[in-house]
Amino acid sequence: MIFAGSHISSAGGYCAMARQAEKLGANTFAFFTRNPRGGSVKALDEADAAAFCERVRELGLGKLVAHAPYTYNLAAAKPELREFAVNAMREDLDRLEYTPGHYYNFHPGSHVGQGSDAGVALIAEGLDRVLEPGRSTLVLLETMAGKGSEVGRTFEELRAIIDRVAHPELLGVCLDTCHVWDAGYDIVNDLDGVLAEFDRVIGLERLKAIHTNDSLNPLGAHKDRHAKLGEGHLGLETFRRVAAHPALAGLPLILETPNDDEGWAKEIAFLRSCG
Ligand code: FE
Ligand code: FE
Ligand code: ZN
Repeated sequence: MIFAGSHISSAGGYCAMARQAEKLGANTFAFFTRNPRGGSVKALDEADAAAFCERVRELGLGKLVAHAPYTYNLAAAKPELREFAVNAMREDLDRLEYTPGHYYNFHPGSHVGQGSDAGVALIAEGLDRVLEPGRSTLVLLETMAGKGSEVGRTFEELRAIIDRVAHPELLGVCLDTCHVWDAGYDIVNDLDGVLAEFDRVIGLERLKAIHTNDSLNPLGAHKDRHAKLGEGHLGLETFRRVAAHPALAGLPLILETPNDDEGWAKEIAFLRSCG
């Protein structure tokens, strides 16, 4: 079974997201836990959340992938910024318990000149205050393009974070195809080799979700500019192989492509036809 969907706006509430997923032909999707650039959060509508959970079951949707805002930086140099990220992530995870059993992915952080090792240590320290056994949502580290001082450009950096936290069993990984390509992993010519490398360094059992984005830039560019499927350097054939790869079977494939509803519906149909 192939699970594919796009990023869906959470502005209209939970049930509106389910309606949009249905309209797009999606059987999974992603959504921001709050405004991606801001920090404030709306009061949670418990009835809407409960009706949504029911709808998700009725529609037979797979695991959903909530996305943390880009403004969180667990590796920030300023303690107050790290504090903000920790508190916001805890709050997001508390809210996600109203829609239990899905995923929450976040960008590990940017070390802003402190160095990758210091960044890894700060991220693990922050995660130790965020991760609590007993929550039903699995937290996913996203593979990053290596733009600026982003931590998570290499599989080794993600492994180092996982190795340092007190509860590694509460962490998984979300692989972004645009980001790993921009980071220098050649999934166009050697998808098997990159997945073998992921398995060797992190372990494929940690891989829980895929962001299926084409990239506007060449291998190793460290840019992070997403393109529509087939309109970037990865090409449609790469996404066909990703969607059909036995090692990735059943993982939610999430589109974060620059699209309108028609474009997403087309890409979702394409991915779902690759089985
Ligand atoms: Fe992301
Ligand atoms: Fe992504
Ligand atoms: Zn990106």
